Amino acid sequence: MTDATAPITQDLMTIKRAPIVGLPNLVGMTRPQLREALIGAGTPEKQAKMRVGQVWSWIYNKGVYDFESMTNLAKPFRAMLAENFRVTLPEIVTKQVSTDGTRKYLLRIEGGHEVEAVYIPEKDRGTLCISSQVGCTLTCSFCHTGTQKLVRNLTPAEIIGQVLLCRDDLGEWEKGPDDKRLLSNIVLMGMGEPLYNFDAVRDAMKIAMDPEGVALSRRRITLSTSGVVPEIIRTGDEIGCMLAISFHATTNDVRDKLVPINKRWNIDALLQACRDYPRLSNSERITFEYVMLRGINDSDEDAHRLVKLIDGIPAKINLIPFNPWPGAPYERSTRKRIEAFGDIVNAAGYASPVRRPRGEDIMAACGQLKSATERERKSRKQIAEEAGL
Ligand code: SAH
Ligand code: SF4
Repeated sequence: MTDATAPITQDLMTIKRAPIVGLPNLVGMTRPQLREALIGAGTPEKQAKMRVGQVWSWIYNKGVYDFESMTNLAKPFRAMLAENFRVTLPEIVTKQVSTDGTRKYLLRIEGGHEVEAVYIPEKDRGTLCISSQVGCTLTCSFCHTGTQKLVRNLTPAEIIGQVLLCRDDLGEWEKGPDDKRLLSNIVLMGMGEPLYNFDAVRDAMKIAMDPEGVALSRRRITLSTSGVVPEIIRTGDEIGCMLAISFHATTNDVRDKLVPINKRWNIDALLQACRDYPRLSNSERITFEYVMLRGINDSDEDAHRLVKLIDGIPAKINLIPFNPWPGAPYERSTRKRIEAFGDIVNAAGYASPVRRPRGEDIMAACGQLKSATERERKSRKQIAEEAGL
């Protein structure tokens, strides 16, 4: 754990980007959409495949967003691109670097809204935690994002844009699938419920997996959901990434309060969707996230119930010490309690790593994200009511 009183390294910067104009943004288009767009703007059909490949490689492999610098494209083709399209990423408003190396980006997207993305360096990997919505419609009572009303879904461009910006910041372009990367993994664990923005998340992740672009394998992408049951199987079928479930409780009574979507799809329905998740195996296990809240869900009985519930599902259990935020109605379980809980889970044969809070000094840890603008704030009363507190 980092020392919360350690100084914060503020690195304020603004990267110049193409001005926002009304032209269609090439970022975020899937290959078929890009092909259609180029043909629509006059590219001959028989050249379309080659052109798509070239443009794709400039944007996603080389990180070049300025048509003039796409030097292997004929001048008239570059002019055609500039007349018809733009290449726009979200704008970095601030970048904060934690004493532990975690980087938190506050990004401004069209409409002036703000979202956050967090890069977490580790010894053997580097993970970018990205957002899928501005705010969240759900109201998990321990989550800071849940106190912010949904403003809107992010577009595919804004989702993949977070990855491109981070690669820019890390100076990491032109690396192939087998190269060692600073940014080697993506988790959809930032702001928002990714399965309430399914199509945009799917398209953005398809772009991230494309072998000629960012080229991250589907096994290096993990989508976390609070339990949008009807979309879980689709995630396996249409994205094929790894799945994490925000489980957090072992009885419906408690889960109803912590993760109110449980009132719609309860523990049984959620676990059935997990059992049906495509490609589930010992090498592709589901991660069950479990936030440790003192006196709420952290007893030995909870641990025993948990392993019983997930019996037979290839799984690992990720224990997340609660990360507090101003006004939060919970406390973090003690270290001793977390260890005792973990021991029971371990004894039942499940790996149960405790997630080390990262970037706490810059409010970058799980569940602490929330855009700095609090214009669209849910009332405390609404949160308490929805959570049945
Ligand atoms: N909406 C998705 C993904 C974003 S949250 C989901 O709920 O799964 C990523 C993880 O952080 C989830 O497991 C979430 O429950 C957890 N989380 C939220 N607030 C937290 C907090 N204050 N402390 C620790 N974990 C938290
Ligand atoms: Fe939304 Fe996830 Fe936070 Fe729940 S935990 S409020 S689903 S972001």
